[in-house]
Parts: sequence; C-alpha cells; structure tokens
Amino acid sequence: MTVSSNAEISTSSLSKRDFDVERVRGDFPGLHQMVHEKPLVYLDSAASAQKPQQVIDALSHFYAHDYANIHRGVHELSQRATKAYENARLKVQRFMGARSEREIIFLRGTTEGINLVAQTYGRANVSEGDEVLITTMEHHSNIVPWQMLCEEKGARLVVGPIDDRGELDMDAFEELIGPRTKLVALGHVSNALGTINPVKEIIELAHERGIPVLLDGAQAAPHISLDVVDLDCDFYTISGHKMFGPSGIGALYVRESILEKMPPYQGGGDMISSVSFEKTTYNRLPFRFEAGTPNIAGAVGLGAAIDYLNELGMESIAAYEEELLDYGTEALRAVPGLRMIGEASNKASVLSFVLEGIHPHDIGTILDQEGIAVRTGHHCAQPVMDRFGLAATARASLALYNTRGDIDRLIHALETVRKVFG
Ligand code: PMP
Repeated sequence: MTVSSNAEISTSSLSKRDFDVERVRGDFPGLHQMVHEKPLVYLDSAASAQKPQQVIDALSHFYAHDYANIHRGVHELSQRATKAYENARLKVQRFMGARSEREIIFLRGTTEGINLVAQTYGRANVSEGDEVLITTMEHHSNIVPWQMLCEEKGARLVVGPIDDRGELDMDAFEELIGPRTKLVALGHVSNALGTINPVKEIIELAHERGIPVLLDGAQAAPHISLDVVDLDCDFYTISGHKMFGPSGIGALYVRESILEKMPPYQGGGDMISSVSFEKTTYNRLPFRFEAGTPNIAGAVGLGAAIDYLNELGMESIAAYEEELLDYGTEALRAVPGLRMIGEASNKASVLSFVLEGIHPHDIGTILDQEGIAVRTGHHCAQPVMDRFGLAATARASLALYNTRGDIDRLIHALETVRKVFG
C-alpha cells in the first residue's frame, strides 16, 4: 500500500477495497519475528499497536529531510516542517469529522487530553457542590483527573453503574444526570471490557439538560469510524500509539464555541500572541493550547497512520474486526473453565477472560512462552475489576492485522496453560 507524502492529504481516503489481511500484515515488520522460538502472535493492541512501514518511513523521511522547529522560522526547513505538522492536523480534523482545524489540539495522548479539559474547562466551570458524571468502566485516565478536580473544588464524582454483561445501566445513568451535573465524561469503547457505549443517546440526554459530554476515544479510534459532528460531542480524545502511529502524540477535539471560552492550559512559547511583564495576550486557536515545542515528528507520523487507516477504510476495518471478534468469542467460550469478562452486545476488539483456578499472570507468562502477547492485570481500570470481584483478567485485544490463525494459536496455548496449572 502506498501512503501519500507528508505534504499531501490522501485523496484516496474514501476508497473501499476488500480487506486483505495478509497484505495488511505485510505492512507491519514488527509482526514478523520469533518470540521464544515461536512466531509472534500479537494480541495486545489495546495497550499499544504495532506500526506499519508507512508510518516508520514517514517518521524517518521527516527526520532525514524536513526537520526543524515549527511556526517560527522563515527558513525553508522550518516552513516545510510547519506545513507537515499543520497538514497532519488537517488529517486528524477530517479523520474525526471536526468542522475546523481550529478545534484540534495536538498533545501527548488521551491522558493529557482529559487532564487538559479537567484543568481548563473543569476548573472554570465546576464549583463546590457540582457533579462530574462518569461510569464504572472508565480507564484511570478518565477517573483520576476528575477526582483531582473534584477534590480541589469540593465537587462530587458520580459514577454510573454497569450490569453483569458490562453494559451501562442506562436508566440509572439518566437518573444520575442531575441539576448539579456540570460534565459527563465516558469512554466510547471500554479498554477492559470492549463495550461500545451508546454515546449518541447519552449525548442527547446530557444536551437536553445543557450538559457537555467528553468522550475518551482511545479505544474507539483504531476500530470505529469517527464523526464528532454526527455524535455531537463536546470533547473527544485520541491516542496516536493505539491507532498505529507513534507514541507521545494524540489529539483533543473541542467544539469551537467551548474552546473559544476555555482558559489556556500551559503557558510558554507558541501559545502567546505577545508577552510583556505587564500583559500577555494569547495566540489564536488552536495554538493557544499548544505551549512549547510539540512532538512535531509524532504529528507527522500520526498523519501517516491516518492515511493508512483511510486507505483501508474504517468501515472495512470494523467489518473485518467484528467477524474476528465473533470468531474469538465463540472459540474462547468453548474453553473449559473460561469465563468471559465483558459480554456486551455491542463490542470492539477486546476479549477479556479468567480461567478458573489460574492466576491471570500465570496465563500471561505461559502464553508469552508460546510467543503470544496478551495483557494481564487490571488494565488501568481497577473499579471495573472490583465490579466483577476480580483483581485481574487476561486480555487478548484484536486489531486490523490479526487473523483467525492468531486466535487458534491462543486457544491451543490455553490448553497448555490448563495442563500446566489445571
Ligand atoms: N482511555 C482508555 C480507554 C485507554 O485504553 C487508554 C490507554 N490504555 C487511555 C485512556 C490512556 O491513553 P494514553 O495512555 O494513550 O494516554
């Protein structure tokens, strides 16, 4: 597959082809290696995804030919680097379906995106006695920043419950949206359970009461076609490293009417228009929220990852992964003593499970010896683990480069786990 140069936005972004997983796998050098003398099966993309050659090449090309600091220099390299960085912003804008590039802030990733909203919008709009509403299935990144804010302000963190399948209890959630609710913040897709939340319905409920909604899109962006305008959300965060781009880069979408009124986040270079000791004026959007030299190459790499996803087509990716997830779910359910954690009717990517009498870390260790990479632990979602009465699960997470063969290898290796520990 070819990816357009840094300076151009892919025009074939909407072309659809049949999904050819072997061709896709050919683009990912990291997948083709032996681990403990077994061919690698990578089932840990929810933690971080492997990178296609196109992203590696875009980074390498940028550093080799176009690298300089951005927005300041009149010289050629600075101009080229600025163009590449701003072009990446346009790619993110289109990928997320935002109306304007002014609504896209580059930052380190989802964690920083949520902290930015808590520290700017949150501090300006949440007061003593107010409430921030989240759900039981949030990643720590969408819990702790709100706890910190609530502690500072004397506000209350309110948590919507989930059922035994890992679905949000919508009646209870609606009840919890009250007169003191100042913000609703939830994951689009849960990293621990795979649940795809009914975010459109939630946004409608919140907006009827004039409450803005933040969506943590870390686990949605690699799997689902995004459209922040159609969703009508107010804040949406993504992480580059989960979408086959570099780590240390991500983006935050904020509806422009909100962003215009938000106080700045960090102070420093690039976020100002003029500085004197008497008075500093701030730069226009979105630069007001990007203090200091950013991860310039990271943004370029993220742009290349978006080109890559567009080339395949998010709808084709989603259809392929849905079929694979069904196959994996069936296969795992047939393993004796295995309990799936997270059985929502609408799910993406994640197969979380426990094996009776066997600690998840032991599962992970044996699977590693078989060349299979899965994640074990609480997945930075301890309250979800508590909800299911567990300390940890084993989690296999699927991405566009996984196959039925990967799942067959997992199932086969779980037999070894059961023999060793059963
Ligand atoms: N939210 C969810 C649902 C996640 O899965 C993750 C990453 N595991 C994060 C937030 C945090 O993302 P990052 O580490 O890229 O900031």
